[in-house]
Amino acid sequence: MMNVDVIVIGGGPSGLMAAIAAGEKGAKVLLIDKGEKLGRKLAISGGGRCNVTNRLPVEEIIKHIPGNGKFLYSAFSIFNNEDIIRFFENLGIALKEEDHGRMFPVSNKAQSVVNALLDQLEKLKVKVFKNSPVEDLIYENDKVSGVLLKDGQTISANSIVVAVGGKSVPHTGSTGDGYAWAKKAGHTITDLFPTEVPVTSNEPFIQNKTLQGLSLRDIELSVLNPKGKPLITHRMDMLFTHFGISGPAVLRCSQFVVKALRKWNLKEVILSLDALPDSKEEELFQEIVKLVKSEPKKSIKNTLKGFLPERYLLFLLDYNGISAAEQGGTIPNEKLRSFAKSCKQFPIKANGTLSLEKAFVTGGGVSVKEIEPQTMASKLMKGLYFSGEILDIHGYTGGYNITSAFVTGRLAGTNAALFAKTAEKSV
Ligand SMILES: Cc1cc2nc3c(=O)[nH]c(=O)nc-3n(C[C@H](O)[C@H](O)[C@H](O)COP(=O)(O)OP(=O)(O)OC[C@H]3O[C@@H](n4cnc5c(N)ncnc54)[C@H](O)[C@@H]3O)c2cc1C
Repeated sequence: MMNVDVIVIGGGPSGLMAAIAAGEKGAKVLLIDKGEKLGRKLAISGGGRCNVTNRLPVEEIIKHIPGNGKFLYSAFSIFNNEDIIRFFENLGIALKEEDHGRMFPVSNKAQSVVNALLDQLEKLKVKVFKNSPVEDLIYENDKVSGVLLKDGQTISANSIVVAVGGKSVPHTGSTGDGYAWAKKAGHTITDLFPTEVPVTSNEPFIQNKTLQGLSLRDIELSVLNPKGKPLITHRMDMLFTHFGISGPAVLRCSQFVVKALRKWNLKEVILSLDALPDSKEEELFQEIVKLVKSEPKKSIKNTLKGFLPERYLLFLLDYNGISAAEQGGTIPNEKLRSFAKSCKQFPIKANGTLSLEKAFVTGGGVSVKEIEPQTMASKLMKGLYFSGEILDIHGYTGGYNITSAFVTGRLAGTNAALFAKTAEKSV
């Protein structure tokens, strides 16, 4: 039977980093992936250019990981986003900062990042098994002893890093296989749910495709609780689709939609769209009245030209019972007031999201309460480590999930190697 110090299961960002970290500690490492290619999800991140990490201060990074980001405080004190940047620069991958602190390879080529990681594996003599799905983990006397591959082969190891990702976008290999192995070791799997996912709606203007394809820039979108108070607000772009809404602001709000639907057992959650976040509602109304008064015979559509993207302007006028061709001076003030209100607080009822498989990220996973925050070791099974999206940690897209994957992978790999060495000595 083949025998190694450390087995890392999963060749995504967390598994690749874990295998490198364990290799750097001098351990005999085997990285196993079910697919033909490693780092598939990493390669499609950030619109296919690989959003390696994010350069915001650690406090901000944690804020952008609403799913248990605080668990990462101790991990970040050991290895953080700046260490990721240095790590890649040492591998010869120059990075550049873009909007919102997002870091990309200067080459804009995702594959250059994946290749640098693969070269490092080779340098460190990490053995790689591709096309080798792991079927099960083997535990003996409250300690890991090895893995069983789908082809029937067993491989023994002193420690194992489970870095098989979540359940989203399964064609990249992440099909949720690790949850059963974690459960078998006694771990709690918190409820899984889609996050960073487009939101669905039955609103007539969605079903009729009135706004399909319209994108709104720099808007503010809020998810409201049943009392109408914002649970969260994000200022970014958004897009109307044939099934609902999407785009960066929507993706960020999506987990709050899912959580609100579940928490209050609702059929629909209201999102409020502020298309003019820099204006106050009353000031906006006064401005519109002033414009209308200065040219009362002009059509309202022309008076308000440039206020909003034309399609959205026409939609909001119609929504408020105002004909676009109507002369501004003939429109009652209460209609103009309700139009101003729609610009600031347009309600969109959401009835759910696309599926977990279609989400960018899986919410929920192996409970972080059962994981040592400085080592990523299981508190329940000796020699078992978890890293990356399989953990109950989820952030916004923008490099936050990948940062979490690299950081937890680094810690898991380092400590799995240290554990393997001490286990060896004690035999
Ligand atoms: C389209 C898209 C864009 C994204 N963009 C961003 C972004 O811009 N910023 C950001 O922060 N995050 C982004 N994400 C999320 C981010 O890519 C993931 O959070 C991250 O890849 C998770 O890393 P991981 O190593 O934990 O798991 P994964 O990357 O999912 O890797 C898991 C690996 O485990 C292997 N595996 C699974 N089961 C088995 C098994 N039984 N045996 C052997 N191997 C197995 C899989 O083949 C896979 O290679 C994006 C996700 C998608 C889908």
